[in-house]
Formats: sequence, C-alpha cells, structure tokens
Amino acid sequence: MKTHFPDEPLRSHTLDMLWQAQDEKGYIANEDIARIASQLQISEVELEGVASFYHFFHRKPAGKYRIYINNSILAEFKDYRDIVRAFEKATGAPLGGTDPTGTFGLYDTPCIGMCDQEPSALINFYPFTNLSPAKVDQIIDSLRSGVGVEFLANAVEDNIRYTPEREKTILLREFVPGKALQALTRWTPGEVLSEIKESGLAGRGGAFFPTGVKWELCSKFESDCRYIVCNADEGEPGTFKDRVLLSLQADTVFEGMTVAARVLGARQGFVYLRGEYRFMLDPLQAVLARRRAAGVLGAGIGGVAGFDFDIQIHVGAGAYVCGEESALIESLEGKRGTPRNRPPFPVTNGYLDQPTIVNNVETFAAAALIALNGGDWYAGIGTRHSAGTKILSVSGDCAQPGLYEYPFGVSVRQVLADCGARDTQAVQVSGPSGICVAPGEFDRTIGFEDIPTAGAFTVFDNSRDMFEVARNYVHFFQHESCGFCTPCRVGTSLLRNLMDKLHNGHGSPYDFAEIEKLNQLLQSMSHCGLGHTACNPVLDTIAKFRPAYDRRMEHDDFSPAFDLDRALAPARQMTGRDDAAAHIVTDNPGEGA
Ligand code: SF4
Repeated sequence: MKTHFPDEPLRSHTLDMLWQAQDEKGYIANEDIARIASQLQISEVELEGVASFYHFFHRKPAGKYRIYINNSILAEFKDYRDIVRAFEKATGAPLGGTDPTGTFGLYDTPCIGMCDQEPSALINFYPFTNLSPAKVDQIIDSLRSGVGVEFLANAVEDNIRYTPEREKTILLREFVPGKALQALTRWTPGEVLSEIKESGLAGRGGAFFPTGVKWELCSKFESDCRYIVCNADEGEPGTFKDRVLLSLQADTVFEGMTVAARVLGARQGFVYLRGEYRFMLDPLQAVLARRRAAGVLGAGIGGVAGFDFDIQIHVGAGAYVCGEESALIESLEGKRGTPRNRPPFPVTNGYLDQPTIVNNVETFAAAALIALNGGDWYAGIGTRHSAGTKILSVSGDCAQPGLYEYPFGVSVRQVLADCGARDTQAVQVSGPSGICVAPGEFDRTIGFEDIPTAGAFTVFDNSRDMFEVARNYVHFFQHESCGFCTPCRVGTSLLRNLMDKLHNGHGSPYDFAEIEKLNQLLQSMSHCGLGHTACNPVLDTIAKFRPAYDRRMEHDDFSPAFDLDRALAPARQMTGRDDAAAHIVTDNPGEGA
C-alpha cells in the first residue's frame, strides 16, 4: 500500500488494498474482505459493496492470468470474435470463466483506450495490441512456458499524426520541468488566476466549463484545506488522448496541477488513473519522484517557503461512471463510485467534503502552458469562444488512426482528409454520449460554438451498419450503468433488449415509440449524465440513418422479443414430440410456428 498523506484517511486507500489482495491471489478472498474491513473499521458488507462495484475486482478465483479483451465497436470491426475464439482455443477458458486448471481467465471489457491499435487486450493489466490469432497463440505458449507477462507485453504506440506549429502544441512540446512554476515568482496567485481566466481555457473533459471560473469558485470558499484532482479516467469508447499525454507529457500535467495548487493554496493533489492504465503507474511514479528530487514537487517548491504540494496516484478498478467528477471523488474516498447529488458541487464540497477542483488531464497540461506563456497567448489560439487546441483521438475507418491536435475551429471534413478517411458514412464525435455526424454536416467545426467534445473522433465508412454501431453503444451503457437509480438501471436494460430484439428479427414500427418512451424516462428521471445520454446514439442514428432501422422492421404489428415456441424446443426434444400440439401457434410468423 502506498504511503498516504498525513491527513488523508486510510479509507481512501480501500481500492489500493483491494488491488493488493487481488494481485497476491488473483482474486479477493473472503479472508481478505474480513481483514481489510477490520483495518478500515467498516463492516464486511460495506466493503463487499465496494468490491462488487468495480468490474476488475474478482471475488472468486479468476485465473493466474486474467485476460480482458476489448469488445468496443472498433474491436468488433477488427475481428474481435476471431481473437476471442483464439484465446478460448489457446487457453481452454470460455469467455467469462477460467480454464479447468485455473491458469487463465477470459473476460471481455469495454474500451481499454487502445482504439488506434485494435484488436487489443490486457493480461494482468499489461497491454497487448494489434492482436491476431497467431499472436494470441504465441503469447499463451510463452506464458505456459513460464515467460513473465511483463516481458511479453508490447510497447503501446503513441501514433501522434498531426500537431500545430511547435509553439502551440501540447503533445510535442519540449517542456522543461519547473519552467511554468517560475511564472509563479513573477505573478501572485491571484494574477495567475487572472491569466487562466483571460486565457479562455475551458474543461477538456467535454463539459467546457471555464477553468478559471471553477478555480475562482473553489478559492472563494472558506477552508484551509483544498484538493486538486486530475481526472485520468477517460473511459468514453474511442478516447485515448490521456494515455499519450500521460506517457509523453506527464511533467506538463503535474506542473499544471502544481500551478492550480499555488492558486488555491492546496497541499494535496491526486491523479485518478483508470484501472485500464495500470501499466502506466510505475512510469508516472518515477516522474513524480524525479520532480520531488528536483524541488518542483513536495515541500518548499522552487525554494518558496510554504509552497508545499504533493501528488498521489489512485488507480480505479473499471467503472466508466467514475469519470463523472462526484463519482470519482466517492471512489477516491474508497467507496462505490456512485455520483453524488449536486449541488453542492465539488468546488465547495468535494474530497472529504472540502473544496476540490477536478480537471481533465488535458486541462492541466494547458494550464501549465498558460502559466508559461500568459493568458493572451493562449486566447490567441483557436476561436473566439473556444480558446486553445484540442487533441482528438481519431480511430475507425481511416488510414492513419492516432492523435491529432488542432486549434479549435477545425472542420470535421478537414480531420477526415488528414487521417485518410474514404467513403465516410458517419463520424461519432465525443463517444457514445456525443453526437453522430452525417456527411451533410462535415463542414461543422470542433469547438464550443458547434461540436464540443472530450476528444473521441470515430470514423465509420459506408460498409458499416450504423444500427450495429448504436447497438454496441447501448450495450456499453447498460454494462456501465452503476445501478444506483432505477430509471437508468432498468431503462438501459430495456433499451438493450429492444435493440437486440430488432437485431434478432422481431422489429416493428411499434418499437420506435418504445424507444422514444425510454428516452423520455432516461432523460428526465436518471440521476446522472450516463442515463441522460444513453439513448443518444439510438436517436441520432434513427434520425440520420433510418434505412438501417427500416431494414429491421420485419413485422407490421407488434412482435414480442421472446419466442416462446423456440424456447420450448429443448422440452420437445426431451419428450420426443414434434407434433402440431407441441407447438405454440400464433398468427404472427415471428412468434412461434
Ligand atoms: Fe448510476 Fe445510471 Fe443512475 Fe448515473 S444514471 S447514477 S450511472 S444508475
């Protein structure tokens, strides 16, 4: 377990303790729950509730090698099913279980942040990308012969394809650690805040909330204890920019957090790193250690008495909803990642009920550059209402998937041309909860004025079935619904069942009305953004790609999803009957014989 800050409760390390237990045995045993609950002085039932919330925690033996195969839509396009079959054959484990010896466990999981190099998988949280059935055989053979999984994992490519001129880029900047902090000797904390406000920087997680306003709100709330949190839990399928930023520009990100700490007088910061990026933990810890040694992190930063700030990394455990800032804070506190009621907002009542700012990885990197170059400089990049650059994670049907950094205002058409996309049918901007852009809209631009985005830019060419794209996204939302509120828990399941029903040939126009009803329920009654947006991909594709749905309207009248006659087939087989009386007869050809 990591050292914790003096005034940080042990409870905040619940996830660390669960990870450690699982690393030792391959799963979290009952005795681990009892021991950890006792250490934390909470009930075993409460701890059980935490462990069961996160997809990557296993309460039963889950294999010495736990293999998580990405099942996002992009993996589906890149022969995900062949990869699953190859793993099943090589390991002897079925998807969702272990092989008889307990050596291998095989599981599928939503986006692991490798959309530019699919198909991909994590084995004991080491990355394996650009998989093929032959590569799967080699990996499993090597593991069987005793080669350590850490020696087999491949280097993850950065795939940086486009950046603006060197003086504007975040991705390729040669950043000297401590350089931005020197600005703090020129400016008072209040002046730094003014620069951030003047820069026009807005949250890069997609919400576009003005960063300076957020910091100011936090600074005004009376408290002698504030926290800086970096949200590195990018879980939106199609997004992978934070993976590369933390790999190449960790110093810039940490320096941005340190600038925020100076402005707010915070002494503690956290990076909430998504569980899928656990393989980055050691390199990031090394950067933090180097910064402490260089005097740009820790006590008396830059030789300034009283400027004390340190950063700790907390690793998530597989829960998309923790990307929502209040859910993230709950998780940081060692609880289930359930979104809180808001207000109050984290700027006043965040981590441990203290004023807290939560910003995206890219936002902190931009803040460091603003401290370095000034607010005017930053405001001069991009458009009037969207200052700066935006890093797009481009993937799907294009010749050059990877990261593209543009000043805001770039058109969808320009990005498609730059990434070598051909015959493009649609672009999903900002992931499943974002917007599906059709060819007639390709002159629309990326930015607050038109299409705000957290960064995902997923390209689908004319060969793709947009109904299946939407169905995959609906499965994702159902999988990731945290279950806290009934409208979302039930609504996403009903929506998934409805899309599966259409997929299975039971569609009728009646189902459009059902989808609309579910949308109203999810939008008006859900507790957080996941539920509010769960219907978006379906409504968008119905509006823009209606033939993909019309093809599935095989019935004029209502057709139930459940085929009772087909369900009775095993019973008929057991009793040796197949006469007319052993069948359910209806007028509807889709329902029974
Ligand atoms: Fe959880 Fe969904 Fe409710 Fe959000 S809307 S709190 S994800 S159940």
